[in-house]
Amino acid sequence: MLRGRMAGGGRAQAAPDAAYDRAIFLMLDGARGDLFADLLRAGELPQVARHIVEPGAHATATTVFPSVTGVAYAPYLTGCFPQRTNLTGVRWLDRKKYARRNLSASRFRSYAGLGHYMWDRDLSTDVRTLFELVRPSSNIFGTISRGTGLHRNSFYLRRVPWALKFHLTGDWAPIDERSNTHLYRAAGRPRERFTFHTTLQIDEHSHHDGPFSPRVREGYRRFDQMVGELARRLSDKGRLERTLLVLGSDHGHGEVHAHFDLAAWVAARGLATLSYPKAFGRRWFSSEAAVMVGGNGMGQIYLRGAGWAADESGEERLAHTPGLVDDLLAEPAVDLCAWGRADQAVEVRSRRGAATVRLFDDRVEYRVHGSDPFGYGPLPERLDRRAALKETQETNYPDGLVQVAQLFGAARTGDLLISAARGYDLGGDAGRRSFRSGHGSLHRDHMAVPVAMNHRFDTTAVRTVDLCPSILTLLGEPVLPCLDGESLITQRRPLPSS
Ligand SMILES: [Zn+2]
Repeated sequence: MLRGRMAGGGRAQAAPDAAYDRAIFLMLDGARGDLFADLLRAGELPQVARHIVEPGAHATATTVFPSVTGVAYAPYLTGCFPQRTNLTGVRWLDRKKYARRNLSASRFRSYAGLGHYMWDRDLSTDVRTLFELVRPSSNIFGTISRGTGLHRNSFYLRRVPWALKFHLTGDWAPIDERSNTHLYRAAGRPRERFTFHTTLQIDEHSHHDGPFSPRVREGYRRFDQMVGELARRLSDKGRLERTLLVLGSDHGHGEVHAHFDLAAWVAARGLATLSYPKAFGRRWFSSEAAVMVGGNGMGQIYLRGAGWAADESGEERLAHTPGLVDDLLAEPAVDLCAWGRADQAVEVRSRRGAATVRLFDDRVEYRVHGSDPFGYGPLPERLDRRAALKETQETNYPDGLVQVAQLFGAARTGDLLISAARGYDLGGDAGRRSFRSGHGSLHRDHMAVPVAMNHRFDTTAVRTVDLCPSILTLLGEPVLPCLDGESLITQRRPLPSS
């Protein structure tokens, strides 16, 4: 295990070829790539421009599918896609555990409420977090904390009282103010090497008011003011030049004008269906299907098929329920359907067309049957993973080929994945909270996010999983070989003297 390097005087000591001795990651939860870029261009984020973008760079990157909170934090922290982290949604079912372990608490999950405390436990032990790799580290209100230790995890003790307060007031800004004071305190700790901070008002207020509302725009400006204050404090201590500042968002946001209750729709076909929020009834032990919707733009359907523990592919399970995909695609709320075949290939269908995707470690194979389900122009049948992003990043489905396929293969992935059409959400219980805007789907509105760093990086084609190896590179730490991301750093520099 790598440990933080401590100098005798108590200050964090950088690795021998580090360009910075510490990193601070600023998660701007729910920020849209286009709106952030517009505000930056218009001069409305002057502190971000001065302290992060001008010395470094900014890009609109592609997040992971499903584009939901927590699931899309983990790629920044681990460099891995959801298939490797095994965090496949904010709600999921583990079909083998569901079949065999009636009393286990890990048969299915929702991270709402007390489920929030299960993120670290559920994160695959095959991946390592920046908190574990760059110690001492701290987490300020992020959903994943593995490696910080309890007392450096402000999420653990404060999440519930703060969330309750938000439900009473509907205003997240004062809560962000409090988390900012934790950030300033962390920035003042001389030995800390990695700090993860979250700003949540853009996400929370987008759900309530819409992603382009005045209150949400104000959230971007408050984030900018926080960056200014953070830089001032680091500069006063002579640490600004030695601190890597990184910002990123987990998902965008898209306005919702219609609700489609995917779970009720599946149940109406006569299938005994397990779904939240009613998961603790008689379906605990026996169901024929499970529907798990997250961010409300993405739904996973799990089918019993020949039995929950039977070794079948998604395609074989779908064959037990004929017509399901056709009927789903007749619903305007459903945009894309995807399922796995026995030979590991992934089938994708939409009203536009059908195709087969195969994802390998180094490349993607894409075969269109008739017309393209994403509506892409002509693409080569074989692309390396980076080329698959370059070819699609300006379209409505940036990185769609890699993202639709990377989710299959995890124990908690559904048999059939649904990406909602623009303007729709898939959660019948959504009305209470996620009214005006949602996320989760493969659409650009949800997948395109801002990233920026106060060190130059290759901005030609960026995935959020690339930030983790980039941070490790700049801190002079070894990059694990099994990551889905790649370092974007082309030029390093010596660590400035303090
Ligand atoms: Zn989020």
